[in-house]
Amino acid sequence: MTDKKAGRNTRLVHTGYDTDPHTGALSVPLIHASTFRQKSVTEFGEYDYSRSGNPTRETLEKIIADLEGGSHGYAFASGMAAISAALMIFSPGDHLVVCEDVYGGTWRVLTGLLSRFGIEATFADATDLSAFEKAIIPGKTKALYLETPSNPLMKITDLRAMSALAKKYDLITLVDNTFMSPYLQRPLELGCDIVLHSGTKFLNGHSDVLCGFAVTADKALGKRIKYIQNSVGAVLPPNDCWLVIRGLKTLGVRMEAGQKSAQAIAEALEKHPNVKQVLYPGLKKHKGYEINRAQSDGAGAVLSFELKSTELTHRLLKEMQYAAFAVSLGGVESIISYPPMMSHAAMPPAERAARGISDSLVRLSLGVEDTEDVLNDILRIIE
Ligand SMILES: *Cc1c(COP(=O)(O)O)cnc(C)c1O
Repeated sequence: MTDKKAGRNTRLVHTGYDTDPHTGALSVPLIHASTFRQKSVTEFGEYDYSRSGNPTRETLEKIIADLEGGSHGYAFASGMAAISAALMIFSPGDHLVVCEDVYGGTWRVLTGLLSRFGIEATFADATDLSAFEKAIIPGKTKALYLETPSNPLMKITDLRAMSALAKKYDLITLVDNTFMSPYLQRPLELGCDIVLHSGTKFLNGHSDVLCGFAVTADKALGKRIKYIQNSVGAVLPPNDCWLVIRGLKTLGVRMEAGQKSAQAIAEALEKHPNVKQVLYPGLKKHKGYEINRAQSDGAGAVLSFELKSTELTHRLLKEMQYAAFAVSLGGVESIISYPPMMSHAAMPPAERAARGISDSLVRLSLGVEDTEDVLNDILRIIE
């Protein structure tokens, strides 16, 4: 166990679990049991059934809560399961103001599912505080839903200003922290209320587990999410919990490596004649550079860029050797994606264009490969 003053990497390795007291094992025991024997009708143990509580999952839930600076963490079978569970705390008649470039799956849950149960959402530009405030319907609006940096345009939202706005109207602030991870950004410390994750990305980090998390520092809010987790049952299986606990130990070294490459590649591409624009909050000319610096410990390992033609973009996607052309991000292997046909394929072309998602835009998530290899790979193709 570590104290809160230990460094970020020390805490990643030691928080939540050190050594098994029975065997000395350094890795956490993997408990596959679905049920647990009880002593008698008057003496129930700590665990009864794994949907309600599992020791391996609980270890992971404690770790993620601690890393986010929260007190209550819950592990789900996917990011969307975690996000849906958090959104289910709302009731018919409730209204949310949501950042307009929200993750596509979250947009689908809000517009296709929760809307059927009378939970409404208005989408607004979260980089424009007054636009967001205008979308609030006093009395009806119950929450703000944010992502920063946003996907794929890497826009930065001022989390301190947004949580102050939320407090003015007595709203809950939810933040999807997938792109940054608690290693780089801890929204609860900035006044937000619920942090959400697709742990499939940086937290697990090895492109081999689907998982999601919801974390809060408020006991009552934590209990509301736990109630939904236990009711709906989209819990993360023990085996996957074990893999994520292992992956988390290297979150810091993976983030640092990916971020170093992202910064170097962003700077190199910014000067390149065949690159129209580079979107990365680590570049000084990025509109959100100062806000991001003030609220996080880095710019992250994901950048987007636009090449000068669609043809060149398609060539890059086809020929890149050290980044897989795939959906997802946050793995030890670099991944290059094509938002117009992947994350934003469901959006009509005109709407996409209006939001700045052109047919020559790519998103690149940097893994732990050597920076030079990935950069030279890109330069070789775009010349
Ligand atoms: C991938 C992703 C999700 C969804 O998570 P899954 O684990 O795929 O269900 C949510 N938000 C963001 C920002 C993501 O990148």
